[in-house]
Amino acid sequence: MRKLIIGNWKLNPLTISETQKLASKINTFSIHDVVICPPTLFISSVQYPILGAQDCFWENKGAHTGEVSPLALKKLGVKYCLVGHSERRNNGETELEIRKKIESLLSVKIIPVLCVGFGTTVEEDDLEVTDVLRGQLTSALKGLEASPVVVAYEPVWAISSGNSYNHKTATPDHAEKIAMFIETKFSVKRVLYGGSVNSTNAKSFLGQSHIAGLLVGGASLLPGDFNKIINTSL
Ligand code: PEP
Repeated sequence: MRKLIIGNWKLNPLTISETQKLASKINTFSIHDVVICPPTLFISSVQYPILGAQDCFWENKGAHTGEVSPLALKKLGVKYCLVGHSERRNNGETELEIRKKIESLLSVKIIPVLCVGFGTTVEEDDLEVTDVLRGQLTSALKGLEASPVVVAYEPVWAISSGNSYNHKTATPDHAEKIAMFIETKFSVKRVLYGGSVNSTNAKSFLGQSHIAGLLVGGASLLPGDFNKIINTSL
């Protein structure tokens, strides 16, 4: 079964030419569906079959200095957009803003990738996690047709926790239980895992039946690693 693998490049690279160079090294042929999310400034310069954005505003037009319109992203050919990444929540993004962004994206037919998760240590147990996630998911999805929305479960302590050889991830078993919880309680069809995924551990998550794919940060900037991830056979 094809999984969905999303590369989140964050603020990297810093120039158009470096961004194009990086994109040209990512295989366009994969056994999975692959999305890359370059910095917004460079989306229109990148050639890749499926492009995503890392964030957007909730209004399409108007007096909103510095914001990014979902409709403008749609016109650029963007198919997916991350919403509620923990790095944005840390900068003060609220549940209400996240909800409004999801509604706007759905209205222009861009698939929202809602990021949920929390915690500072590996010690959080499944019940504690589902309690927090229930709040985040209810506020983001209640009353909406949730099935087009992709949800990425990212324990905050696992994000960018190291390099390819030194990292902390959730256990595949914990990630699978949480994916099942999100799928069944919130009618979400695709739940991804994210948090220090690399070419060595990708298979252990992709092999879980309720994990529909991966959200990859650091390793998506390393073409060798990312090309292995996107061609992980199950
Ligand atoms: C992320 O930024 O969503 C992420 C999962 O990053 P990393 O893979 O570097 O932990």
